Amino acid sequence: MKVGVLAFQGDVPEHVAAFARVLPREDVVTVLTKADLESVDAVVLPGGESTTIADRLGHAGLWTPLHERLARGLPLLATCAGLILVARALQPSPRGRDPPTLGLLDVVVRRNDYGSQRESFEGPVSFDDLPGGPFPGVFIRAPRILSVGPGARAIAHRGEEVVGVRSGRIVGLTFHPELAPDPRLHEWFVNEVVAGAYPKSAHASATATKSPSTREPTTAHTK
Ligand code: GLN
Repeated sequence: MKVGVLAFQGDVPEHVAAFARVLPREDVVTVLTKADLESVDAVVLPGGESTTIADRLGHAGLWTPLHERLARGLPLLATCAGLILVARALQPSPRGRDPPTLGLLDVVVRRNDYGSQRESFEGPVSFDDLPGGPFPGVFIRAPRILSVGPGARAIAHRGEEVVGVRSGRIVGLTFHPELAPDPRLHEWFVNEVVAGAYPKSAHASATATKSPSTREPTTAHTK
């Protein structure tokens, strides 16, 4: 199983290191080209600056191929800026311009909604599917999830607030698990979301007659 971190800007080495706690190091790669994207079984859209990442994905010609692969079921871990980029819609941010979004996760999000760098904070997050108690949430100029639509499920909360959502194989978090000294979230993503997407029998054999649906060619996705 190969996990690829989209490496245009942001917390790239941190996610690589976090996945290397769970997977063999050679199975954790960075993604900058279409060929890189085609070679991975899951991707990460890291935290960083959503406008910059969106611009660079576009310049690299990856926006549409990424949208297509995700729409066909490629597992995605999207953190912070990554969550912004995959959201169905954005409410205009009080600070800075808003990037385009891939629109694949049924949430409405507002970027920088907790304030600037100075209002960054840490605190426990309750994560439904994670045994072992609260997860240490690191929130840095975090986006706020304003609403969760019927296509997504809230999986993580901080108090009353939703800070993590899942829709099928797409997971979006407003915080930064790659900055926490706790491997459980990356472990959960690998074992539950990615492994679940590639049942052993089908993954083991490239010539299996029944490929997982994510691997079947489909016609180009249109918006
Ligand atoms: N404020 C950033 C943005 O809007 C996200 C912050 C982060 O990823 N830590 O893109």
